[in-house]
Amino acid sequence: MKIAFIGLGAMGYPMARHVARDYDVTVWNRTQKTAEKHAEEHGTRLAASLEACAGNEVVLTILPTSLVVDEIVDRLLPKMGKGALWIDCTSGDPVAARKTAARLADADIGFVDAPVSGGIPGAQAGTLTVMVGGTSENYERAGEVLETFGSRIVHVGESGAGDAVKAANNAMMGANMWMAAECLVTLKKLGINLESALEVLNSGSGRSFASESLIPSRILKGEWPLMFKLALHDKDIRIASSMAQAANASTPMLSLTAQLYTTALADLGDQADYVEVMKYAAKMNAEEW
Ligand code: NDP
Repeated sequence: MKIAFIGLGAMGYPMARHVARDYDVTVWNRTQKTAEKHAEEHGTRLAASLEACAGNEVVLTILPTSLVVDEIVDRLLPKMGKGALWIDCTSGDPVAARKTAARLADADIGFVDAPVSGGIPGAQAGTLTVMVGGTSENYERAGEVLETFGSRIVHVGESGAGDAVKAANNAMMGANMWMAAECLVTLKKLGINLESALEVLNSGSGRSFASESLIPSRILKGEWPLMFKLALHDKDIRIASSMAQAANASTPMLSLTAQLYTTALADLGDQADYVEVMKYAAKMNAEEW
């Protein structure tokens, strides 16, 4: 099966390597040098142009936002054949995913929103969790491709459901992380040793991915690598917030989280890593890690 893989960013670059182990993969990236490097390192083919990707049976995208995905759909759709399948691994907007699915279905092209969780380590190891929205038929068709980089693949509902679950996951992670940072900065102000505190917290019921993984590797070690842009995390939380509004849900905690992240993003800049919001939470207390 021939697959066009579009978007060789922090996640796409290692994911495309896994897909290329089992399939004939053509790669396209906005910055072509990255695609050239991928072709050289992993034996993938370099797309002659973006439009040339339309000739493949499967098109897989992993891009920053649904808006960017839709720009690519605009350019490929007129040249795509009936029966093709579009797998979108972007953490996208469920409303946009439903519209894109309907638009592609009109041209007899399948679509699944299939965002991933597990970060760069999961993408490198091929152990991502994939949450899939779409018809059962398209989910079945996408499955064998998703298995190349995913170890847990779950069909969560119709089109848009994958993006909705992903936005909820990242909103929960964002709120957990902010709360952990606030509690830690409080303990710091009280003069309590953070390593000892974390030893207790991580065997207690307050533990989270933030306390078990992010805080030890960032705050305690003082290393702040760029793994996942804060701007992308902020986008996910805003999607979750607009989903809640559309569902008439009462979500004051989610609204506050969205506001905090947008404020932190304005302060830290769009090249900051998502974990750096913990620096911002410290700064709000005239502290630093
Ligand atoms: P990156 O910023 O590392 O990569 C983005 C990719 O999209 C690059 O290939 C970039 O091309 C391309 N791109 C950006 N803008 C455009 C455009 N206007 N037209 C065409 N291509 C464009 O992002 P990530 O890989 O981190 O994230 C991708 C998606 O995966 C996002 O939706 C994110 O929320 C999600 N995600 C990220 C995780 C992470 O840990 N990083 C974890 C799970 C999901 P170029 O090389 O030219 O800049």
